[in-house]
Amino acid sequence: MITARLAVNGSTDWQIFVVKDSPPAVDFAAQELQRYVQQMSAASFRRVEKEEGKPVIVLGLRKTLSRRDRAVLASPAKGRDGYAITVRPADKGQTARIVIGADNERGAAYAVYDLLEKLGCRWFYPTEDPYDPEVVPRKRTLVLNAGSWASAAFVKHRICNGSEWFFEIDPVKALKQLDWAMKNRYNAMGWQCGHKNGLKAEYEHLRATGLLHELKRRGMYIHGPAHSFNLLLQAVDHMAGHPEWFGLRDGKRVPQNHLGAQFCWSNTGARKQFIANAREFIKDAEAIKIFCPIPFDGGIACACDECRKAGASNLLMTITGELTDMLAEARPDAILETTGGYGPTAEPPTGGGLHPKLRVIWAHWGRYHVCGYDDGAYDRRDNLEKWRKACRGGISLCQYYTDNFAEPWVIPPFAKTMLSDRKYFLRHRIDSVYMLMWPKDYWWNHTLNGYLAGRVFYDSSADPYDLIKDYAINYYGPGAGRHIAAYYTEWARDPELAYRVKNDTLPAHRAALSRQRKQYIDPAVKAAKNDPICSHRVGKVVKLHRLAEKLGDMYRQRDEIRALRARGKFARARVLLEKTQTYTDKLLDYFYELADLNQGLMDRKEVPWFIRITVKDWIEEERGKIKAGDTTIGHDAFAMPDETDVLPGEVVNQQ
Ligand SMILES: [Zn+2]
Repeated sequence: MITARLAVNGSTDWQIFVVKDSPPAVDFAAQELQRYVQQMSAASFRRVEKEEGKPVIVLGLRKTLSRRDRAVLASPAKGRDGYAITVRPADKGQTARIVIGADNERGAAYAVYDLLEKLGCRWFYPTEDPYDPEVVPRKRTLVLNAGSWASAAFVKHRICNGSEWFFEIDPVKALKQLDWAMKNRYNAMGWQCGHKNGLKAEYEHLRATGLLHELKRRGMYIHGPAHSFNLLLQAVDHMAGHPEWFGLRDGKRVPQNHLGAQFCWSNTGARKQFIANAREFIKDAEAIKIFCPIPFDGGIACACDECRKAGASNLLMTITGELTDMLAEARPDAILETTGGYGPTAEPPTGGGLHPKLRVIWAHWGRYHVCGYDDGAYDRRDNLEKWRKACRGGISLCQYYTDNFAEPWVIPPFAKTMLSDRKYFLRHRIDSVYMLMWPKDYWWNHTLNGYLAGRVFYDSSADPYDLIKDYAINYYGPGAGRHIAAYYTEWARDPELAYRVKNDTLPAHRAALSRQRKQYIDPAVKAAKNDPICSHRVGKVVKLHRLAEKLGDMYRQRDEIRALRARGKFARARVLLEKTQTYTDKLLDYFYELADLNQGLMDRKEVPWFIRITVKDWIEEERGKIKAGDTTIGHDAFAMPDETDVLPGEVVNQQ
């Protein structure tokens, strides 16, 4: 194999030459290359203004490269944000040369990350856990194979709605997520504005904290401000003068909040003011390239006669049509989006006549990720198809692979669904994907999916199963990685297990969890034990797996209590119920314990609320039924449990 030696024993004579007048993002790419090479090998590439006959990395937009350099590159790959790289080792008196030609400014950074990955770097997680650094191997000699290749994204907008880009923004964490997103081939951040200050102030906060600068130097942009209708027609500004602009609920005009309603979308005066306010905001919010103001979350539509008659979907499409026209004039470089398939606009408008430029971000909240969009069995396929066909301006698909709120608490890699979803994207040339990451303190738990999706929706041939193997080996180390790769591959092939863990396990699921612990987790712990970083990382898998087993066992106990009750053995059921009551108290404590580690495994705020409901509410229900001498099992039981249904996972496993 012919190779180019970038550094030998910690030193290098390679130089970096950035083509003159390149956009700032190309410069950023060069800095990233210098930074990581130095971290890896202690060697530093010198930046030169003109070539000095030494080995050199030439970096620039393809169109600005010299004719000689352009000639050595592969033809541009079809798609967006692409790049080409040629690595030419020293040969017959010629000095070694690496040429990077980017199709646009972002392509340069993606090219550099590609090279760094070939040298062993990986960025699986944002650096939010101080004990879990980026994967940057220390090696004093750096070698690249000779070659020439080109790459490009098949999806135009790849939007990372990082959990730290919601509401009140912590700039340090938000920057870590932005940095991670660019490394993993996203090109935009999804921003959910805060609701405490005005919209302009919320946006200015992004500027003041340096986040807009960080986006700009990478060539990234913003999709947002998401749920914000309430800020674009504030009750505090307009309610006194124009109560009729606001939504009718139970006979009263009410502001836009959870107990209120959406504003009166059929009122032309209200809409006019709303559009004027939106214009005032967006004209200076230059980082927003996809302007997506959507109704405040969870609010009902106005109940006035006019609004009812027109229908919420139709009215929202009228408003967004008006917003689209406004945007074309105020910010011709930006595009407009609103939600579809979600909230007050679950169904596409019946009246037709969508603005031809209008885009929709279609979201399937609470999706069951067992089959993908391309699968005939996908339950929202009709709705998705209707919206896709109705939106001539295009559609963004909001993905929940990275959500632990409606999705499982111990989340599997959704590789299977991603592959089917990608087929749908390719078949219908969907040009935008939106990765919703939520809630904040689950960030480690769901980021593997964010990583996989970043790659799968950039490169149409990337295989998520290969990526899982690569992840496990590079992140946990080759010893433990082998076992963790097998573990996550199993979870990826059967994503239902994760839903069962959250909602209702059967004996087979508990047996699988117990077997996985012995087969994969225990050996991984052993293999990693002498490496503190790998051990720390394996520890996260261990903790989440333990949670899965504990939840599984809770359902076993519940089924045992139900089985006893169904047979009229109420006294025995009561005794068991008391034991389980203690068990579930401890289980909730375990949730808190995971949250308090601050490792991105669990969000503390979720525990007393949704998690508590799942873990505790059934206890009271059972207590009531035992008291009442009720022998019915209830509609949610899979079957009447018998004795073998209530054996612990360990025992079932050995049968
Ligand atoms: Zn109304």
